[in-house]
Amino acid sequence: MQHYDYVIAGAGAAGLSLAWQLLNSELRHQRILLIDPALKNKNDRTWCFWETELPQSLQAVPVTQWENLRFIGSGFDQTFKLDPFCYTMVRGIDFYQAKLAEMAQFENVRFMQAAVTKVIDTPHGVVVMDEDFEVRTDWFFDSRPPSLSAHHSPYRHLKQHFVGWVIQTEADVFDPALPTLFDFRTPQAGAMRFFYVIPFSKRQALVEYTLFSEELLTEQAYADAIRAYLQTELGLESYTVVESESGVIPMTDQPLPRQLGERWMAIGTRGGRVKPSSGYAFLRILRDSAAIVESLQRHGHPFDLPEPPARYALFDAIMLEVMRSHPDQMADIFTALFRKNPIQRIFHFLDEKNSLGQDLRLIASLPWGPFLGALWRVKTGK
Ligand SMILES: Cc1cc2nc3c(=O)[nH]c(=O)nc-3n(C[C@H](O)[C@H](O)[C@H](O)COP(=O)(O)OP(=O)(O)OC[C@H]3O[C@@H](n4cnc5c(N)ncnc54)[C@H](O)[C@@H]3O)c2cc1C
Repeated sequence: MQHYDYVIAGAGAAGLSLAWQLLNSELRHQRILLIDPALKNKNDRTWCFWETELPQSLQAVPVTQWENLRFIGSGFDQTFKLDPFCYTMVRGIDFYQAKLAEMAQFENVRFMQAAVTKVIDTPHGVVVMDEDFEVRTDWFFDSRPPSLSAHHSPYRHLKQHFVGWVIQTEADVFDPALPTLFDFRTPQAGAMRFFYVIPFSKRQALVEYTLFSEELLTEQAYADAIRAYLQTELGLESYTVVESESGVIPMTDQPLPRQLGERWMAIGTRGGRVKPSSGYAFLRILRDSAAIVESLQRHGHPFDLPEPPARYALFDAIMLEVMRSHPDQMADIFTALFRKNPIQRIFHFLDEKNSLGQDLRLIASLPWGPFLGALWRVKTGK
C-alpha cells in the first residue's frame, strides 16, 4: 500500500490552498497526494471577498480588484469607498490552474483523479480508499462536501442559492469600476432575495440572482427573475448569455467538527469555514490553510487553530433566525445596516475582527424587534 505524509480529499479552494501552504513551508518535502474526481479544468465559480492585503497564496493568480461597492436597498442607493479594503475577484479556473501548475513542479506531490468513498482511521494513520485504490497517510485532510440534514435539527439550516449569468450587451451598460454587492429591487415574496452584479467591462457583467432561504427554486424561476431584473432595472431587451454559474452554499449554525478522527481533519466547507450568516468562505479558507500548516510546523498536529470571540457564533445564529422568521424584512434590515454604518465596520464585523464596542454600535443600528425575538428563540430553542 502506498504511503503519504498528507492525503487531501478534494482539490477545490480548501484542498489546493492547503497543498500550496504545505509546499511553501518547512514541510515542502513531505509526500502529498491530492484526490479529486474532477480534473478542475472548468470555471465552476467566481470567488469574491474583501481584504486589506492580497493573501500570499493569490500573488501568482490573476485577480480583479475594486475600490468601491454599490448598495441598493429600500429607498437607499449608495456607493461606498472601501479604503483600506479592496473587493477582490478570483475566477475558479484561474485559481485551479495556477495552483495545479505550481504543484506540478514538485516531484513529491501527486494528483489522482478518483473519489474517496471510505476512510479508516487508526491511531497510527489513516487508510483512504475507493474500490480501485487504497493509500495510507499520516494525516488526512477532508474537503468532501458535508452531509447536513435539517431534519429534526435544533439548528437553523438555510441555504445561499443563486444562479448567475455572464451577459454581453451591444451598448455600454455597466460601470466597470463599480460592482453592486446588494440590489434588493426584486420581489421578496417570502424569502430574502437580491441581485449581485460584478462588472467585467462596460458591456459584460456577471448578474447573479441570490436567495437566503430554506427551499431552492426551480431552474425556470431563477431564469425568470434574472430576465425581469435585466429588463426592469437595467433596461435591457437584448443581450447574450455567455456563461452561467449556480451554487448552493450551506448557511447553518450547526457546529461542524474539525477533528473527525485521530489523524483526520475536516477542511473547507466541511470544516465549517463558511460564515453562517453571509455564505462567504474563500478568504476564511485561505487563512485556515495557513493556520493549519502553522500548527503542523509548531506542534506536529494540525488542530491548534485560532478561535474567534464566542459572541460571533451567537450573532450568526440570531441572524439566521431573523432571516428564517422575517424574510420579508431583510431588505429593510440590510438597508438600515448599510445606511447607518461605515462599510469598514460591517466588513470587520463579518470578519469577526471588530472590537466589542464597534459590534455594539452596529447592533444598535438595527431594528430591535426581530432580533430580540430571534435571540429568545435561539436561547430557548422554541
Ligand atoms: C458557485 C459558488 C460561488 C461562490 N462564491 C463565493 C464567493 O464569491 N466568496 C466566498 O467567500 N465564497 C464563495 N463560495 C463559497 C465557498 O468559498 C466555495 O464553496 C469554496 O469553493 C469552498 O471550498 P471547499 O474546498 O470547501 O469546496 P470546493 O471548492 O467545492 O472543493 C471540494 C472538492 O471536493 C471534490 N470532491 C467531491 N467529492 C469528492 C470525493 N468523494 N473524493 C474526493 N474529492 C471529492 C470536488 O470535486 C471539489 O473539487 C461560493 C461557492 C459556490 C458553489
